[in-house]
Amino acid sequence: MDLNDKNRMPQLGFGVFQVPAEETAEAVGHALHTGYRSIDTAAAYGNEEGVRAGVQASGLERGDVFITTKLFNTDHGRDQARRAFQQSLETLGNDYIDLYLIHWPVPAKDLYLETWETLCSLRDEGAVRSIGVSNFQIDHLERIIDATGVVPTVNQIELHPRLQQPELRRFHAEQGILTEAWSPLGQGAVLDDPVIVEIAAAHDRTPAQVVLRWHIQLGNVVIPKSVTPSRIEENFQVFDFELSDAEMSRLGELDRGERTGPDPDTFE
Ligand code: NAD
Repeated sequence: MDLNDKNRMPQLGFGVFQVPAEETAEAVGHALHTGYRSIDTAAAYGNEEGVRAGVQASGLERGDVFITTKLFNTDHGRDQARRAFQQSLETLGNDYIDLYLIHWPVPAKDLYLETWETLCSLRDEGAVRSIGVSNFQIDHLERIIDATGVVPTVNQIELHPRLQQPELRRFHAEQGILTEAWSPLGQGAVLDDPVIVEIAAAHDRTPAQVVLRWHIQLGNVVIPKSVTPSRIEENFQVFDFELSDAEMSRLGELDRGERTGPDPDTFE
């Protein structure tokens, strides 16, 4: 997918939230073997080292894999953000990071603008190719864009059939921000929904594939997570079938505004 800074990122990636550090290299290795070329980690996940090991063991060139990591809530502020970035860079063992995100806005600290300015500088210095945010609401986005003139390339937000965030997605589209869906499967909780099960049966696919395909057709970046090899493979097979407009509409009606994760306005 095209980013607003002329870089590109794969639409489908592999997420490693809650993958134990000691299992990460193997899971990442299997994902890369399957064909994934984008890995989503974060300092807070404690498994950047495993991502590094998995990529190294794969035999792929560094330039063939798009790596995202994130600055955690305790690292907001100019100096702290620089230190956190250096730490992630060293742990990942890279000369650069493809995409660096502010993990949460933490409005209570009121440091996300200063942190965003620091990410802008890091990008200008060349150690990170693209910068973005995660869990930002419209008012947070407006504030950093108005103050710096730099529009984040992506906003990685909780997004699945039960939480479709139409207003935020509309704002992203207006601003040229790519919507990246975290918990794209609702952590598995949406997969027994009768509508999703019915559509899956009609295509001879699994519910997970239908939900991922729905994201793909909406134009979202998706980063499903699994440590089960067969599911890692299943989640990658979503480019060889298509949902009809009627099926997309039915899935669109499943929105309940239900979060599985924290509220970005209050999470610290
Ligand atoms: P997800 O929606 O990807 O669900 C993962 C869970 O769904 C798995 O643990 C498994 O139980 C189940 N699952 C996966 N594939 C399946 C399949 N084919 N069939 C049946 N069940 C299946 O949830 P997630 O891990 O929370 O989110 C994905 C990624 O998003 C994370 O790994 C992480 O990289 C990112 N993330 C980011 C944030 C953030 O604040 N930016 C927060 C949470 C997650």
